[in-house]
Amino acid sequence: MHTSALVLFSGGQDSATCLAQALARYPRVETVGFDYGQRHRVELDARQTVLRELRAQFPDWAPRLGQDHVLDLAVLGQVSETSLTRETAFAMTESGLPNTFVPGRNLLFMTLAAALAYRRDLQVLVTGVCETDFSGYPDCRDDTMKALQLALSLGMDRRFLIDTPLMWLDKAQTWSLAHTLGGDALVALIVEHSHTCYLGDRRHRHAWGYGCGTCPACELRARGWARWRGEAK
Ligand code: ZN
Repeated sequence: MHTSALVLFSGGQDSATCLAQALARYPRVETVGFDYGQRHRVELDARQTVLRELRAQFPDWAPRLGQDHVLDLAVLGQVSETSLTRETAFAMTESGLPNTFVPGRNLLFMTLAAALAYRRDLQVLVTGVCETDFSGYPDCRDDTMKALQLALSLGMDRRFLIDTPLMWLDKAQTWSLAHTLGGDALVALIVEHSHTCYLGDRRHRHAWGYGCGTCPACELRARGWARWRGEAK
């Protein structure tokens, strides 16, 4: 029986939904985020706002929500050239991956999260990785997560469970899951305060939240919202 979890929480729609699910499921939940020189600090700001609003609006969950951790991963900027950390435009690379891809980033995130979970005595690592809206990131695959669960458990001699609630959901189903977990209030919280846009746009407000509306992350979020609203009618 698992009673405690560490949620990899970036402040986006996916990880906010994962956090809500963890709060519904586990009595003790902590969060971790990574500061790797993102071009836009809005992601890190969004984390704090979502945590604050969850505490304020969901009194059943508030006592379960423990410490938040932010780990400095500036080193990622030293090993990668990516449009997430540098001022370059989005494009597809020769390998067929978007240039937002940081090789092995998620492997690093999971390893550091496991080390933190070990120290904090947390059993489950919750991450919003997903194969359905697959943007080609090989370190988000289900097989990668299964291999990591084994490697981390063996390598730290601690039985970790990697929980990936969104692995087989599309973006419409992710909105639907948020609604099941926390109703209209949770959906409204995620729309208003979570941040997904690659360009860090907090000026343009759409039905699905803030963003430029045209980057791949905005397009995915907007399409999922439209489909969910269409189906929900
Ligand atoms: Zn955008």
